[in-house]
Amino acid sequence: MVAPVRRWHQLYQTQMRFSLRRVQAWGLTLDCQILGAMIVFTSNVDGHFQKAGFNKDKIIECHGSIHYLQCSTPCRDDIWEADQIEVDMQAFEAKAPHCQACGAIARPNILMFGDGTNEKQTEKYHHWLHKLQENRFKLAIVEIGAGQAVPTVRIESEIIAEKYKGTLIRINPREYEIPDGQLSIPLGGAEAVKRVFELLN
Ligand SMILES: [Zn+2]
Repeated sequence: MVAPVRRWHQLYQTQMRFSLRRVQAWGLTLDCQILGAMIVFTSNVDGHFQKAGFNKDKIIECHGSIHYLQCSTPCRDDIWEADQIEVDMQAFEAKAPHCQACGAIARPNILMFGDGTNEKQTEKYHHWLHKLQENRFKLAIVEIGAGQAVPTVRIESEIIAEKYKGTLIRINPREYEIPDGQLSIPLGGAEAVKRVFELLN
């Protein structure tokens, strides 16, 4: 059953990137990118925002990324790209990556219990929020498919919307409850983004 799984994965990847490109176009339509005022806060660890063409310096991955590694000790806070995994061609096995600083085994940069956050991204995020306030920009948060099972993104949206007096637009087909005064679109992400994009055009 490998083939159907692979086809599903390819379909998921294609759909995901297509929807994200629409989100990006949506931001461009609103001149957000020109003002440098669009930022992505995501719990996805798959790097699809980068692949869809979003500015990598404007992406906050609150649960980390499978495309980066970190020291398992850890001996330092650095992360590095995971694109150079060595393969033992005789055993046909990937060699475990190691930390170049201390030699300990490396692990994916995915948030686990007891981990801290990515300090560089967190700093950029707080700087962006500060600039937003300083320039008195109006904030719109478009939250897509953030569920209640692991509510990191949902909680962040609500806190930031309240703190910066922003408008929260929650897109979710099932868990669409929202604080008073905010907007909810009870549709799947791709469908909602498609319809909003059509209205904007
Ligand atoms: Zn190390």
